[in-house]
Amino acid sequence: MAGVGSVDGVIPLPLTQVTWPNSHPLAGQRGVVNAFAIRREEGVLLVDTGVGEGNPRTDEVFQPQRQSLTEALQEHGISLGDVFAVVHGHLHFDHCGNDCLFPNIPIYVQRREWEVAREGYVSLLDWVDFDGADYRQLDGIAEIVPGVRVLPTPGHTVGHQAVVIDTPIGSVVLAGQVPYDVAEWRYVRQARALSADSDGASGDREAYLASVLALIDIEPRRVWFTHDDEPWDRD
Ligand SMILES: [Zn+2]
Repeated sequence: MAGVGSVDGVIPLPLTQVTWPNSHPLAGQRGVVNAFAIRREEGVLLVDTGVGEGNPRTDEVFQPQRQSLTEALQEHGISLGDVFAVVHGHLHFDHCGNDCLFPNIPIYVQRREWEVAREGYVSLLDWVDFDGADYRQLDGIAEIVPGVRVLPTPGHTVGHQAVVIDTPIGSVVLAGQVPYDVAEWRYVRQARALSADSDGASGDREAYLASVLALIDIEPRRVWFTHDDEPWDRD
């Protein structure tokens, strides 16, 4: 990985493989759902927690194959107690399923995302209702710890956010699901438009494009995606 793997301090955790259902542009294909651990002086900042257990509908529709988050962290010498905060790009089912492992730890989401998710998609799940849940609702850009900030990137959902990290090699972006993967990042970077077959990640296409362009204009050194095995690296 271009020899900068350890320098950016970001550890991808490919927690879940899912099968995309008929309603998805990649219907029938298997796909990865990553979480990320970011090593900082304060400890470990976790971005997303993967698909949870105990929801028959998501199990049936997406056929998730999970690696335990606890084990995935252990493989990198990280214990749950090392995690000082969690950040969510957005609150769809495949990103917040193991939040219950982090009682009394701040979990950062955009306020807009929280409101919409509570009215709709996560209210169907129990994964965000647990003893000690400490969701912190943000209004726009926020610094989580020095050198790590979130940036609203609406489009896939109304309250989607990216994580931008200052590192010795330049800015590293955890784009979440805006854009979807390396291929889409490359396309938009070249064309400054979405490809005809982009579904704008099934949300607001115009907002989605504006969000991707805002990330491109940061000129990051590296970008990680929730649903891609590999990051994109600037030449
Ligand atoms: Zn999503």
